[in-house]
Amino acid sequence: MISNDTICALATANGMGAIAVIRISGPQAIEKVNALFRSKFGSKQLTEVDSHTVHLGYVLDADTYIDEALFTVFKGPHSYTGEDVVEISTHGSVYIQQKVLEVLNKNGIRNANPGEYTFRAFWNGKMDLTQAEAVADLIASDSKASHEIAMKQMRGGFSTQIKELREQMVNFAALIELELDFSEEDVEFANREQFNELLNDLQNILKKLADSFAYGNVIKNGVPVAIVGAPNAGKSTLLNALLNEERAIVSDVEGTTRDTIEETLYINGIGFRFIDTAGIREAGDKIEQIGIEKTFEKIDKASIVLYLYDCNIMADNQIANQLEALVSKGKIVFNIANKIDVDNTREVIPQAIKDEFKDVIHLEISAKEKHNIDLLKEQLFAQVQLLNNANDTIVSNSRHLDVLQKTLAQIQKIRQGMQQGLPGDLLAMDIREALEYLGTITGEIDVDQDILGTIFGKFCIGK
Ligand code: GDP
Repeated sequence: MISNDTICALATANGMGAIAVIRISGPQAIEKVNALFRSKFGSKQLTEVDSHTVHLGYVLDADTYIDEALFTVFKGPHSYTGEDVVEISTHGSVYIQQKVLEVLNKNGIRNANPGEYTFRAFWNGKMDLTQAEAVADLIASDSKASHEIAMKQMRGGFSTQIKELREQMVNFAALIELELDFSEEDVEFANREQFNELLNDLQNILKKLADSFAYGNVIKNGVPVAIVGAPNAGKSTLLNALLNEERAIVSDVEGTTRDTIEETLYINGIGFRFIDTAGIREAGDKIEQIGIEKTFEKIDKASIVLYLYDCNIMADNQIANQLEALVSKGKIVFNIANKIDVDNTREVIPQAIKDEFKDVIHLEISAKEKHNIDLLKEQLFAQVQLLNNANDTIVSNSRHLDVLQKTLAQIQKIRQGMQQGLPGDLLAMDIREALEYLGTITGEIDVDQDILGTIFGKFCIGK
């Protein structure tokens, strides 16, 4: 992954557009692009222009003019990658894009690997690892909430906190190691009480960050929701009412069959992913009996289960049984009495059921008449807000969660060691290990090449 040759790639999306941007980065970027550049006016050379300037000219393939384009020059270290960078903005034809890349290749500039620009930015100290990861999240963000979280991370919110704590730990480890040099004199430079306090702080902060993942993950990946209930309960009518149809986003989830089509509803920027909606839409007459028991698999995948029934025909004891089964699975359960428009003169959900299932959200709706659909949406959103533990910083990356948990376990080990009067050298070793974990979050210490490969391999080419 680590190399410092000169690379090129299309930075804009594949296919035709108004313009296309081809980015070249590396020590020979300016010189090599200059070789295929001809200024539109005069005899300007890109090798002689100032950094951060734009120049109108032609892209040449030997004597053939490929396009009239804008050439933007950034001189390292003041560029995205920290290296010399040239961006060529051409007309957006696919032919031109390919031709320009071809000419660049011919001039000895190789095609970039996925994420190679951002990797170089990280490697050259332009951003830390969490910020580089945030770039990928930012590109992938598809809602207000996921955009906000990625933007915050890119601006360094999370790393600053980690770096500060890490620094304090480093200081302490250094003091303990200093004691070792004076071991014969039995001195204590490192105040154990203060260190205990530091560990306390660290534990609290890391725990809060780790806890925020439940919410961060929801923001990034959406909340899986299952609508279950007997045939004709009104599941597909409800789905349509929720999605308003035109707002529905149908996506085939990678690696699964058509059965698991998901549709996403955004409520205040949070994506609610309705699982297996193909099943719902086709359910009507095809499947004779879909009691709750037959939809266990779907329920397992969901965080929130909407249990729907026709309130005009469902017996109370049946409702109680179904709720019992769902609650025992540890899901957030909505008990939804549908078709209240048919006979709205009686108590729909008996108080006894509401009393028995206090943690269940009870709603009475008419999917057909769109009655209380907004209330249902509000309740869905409210459930997600319960996960938000009012942290400024929200962790949404599972790699970060993993490191946070490992660090927390290590801190626990250090505390035990201190209680048991572990000798300074062993204590210092344990602290160093915790520091290593913390360092891998921001990439301050050498991060395993495999990990880097995984992180940057997920980027698209050209980023
Ligand atoms: P599913 O099998 O659970 O997906 O149920 P459907 O959504 O296909 O609905 C079954 C029948 O109930 C259809 O004829 C719907 O029009 C009707 N239905 C659904 N919701 C309501 C409602 O709120 N009120 C009334 N009166 N009928 C409804």
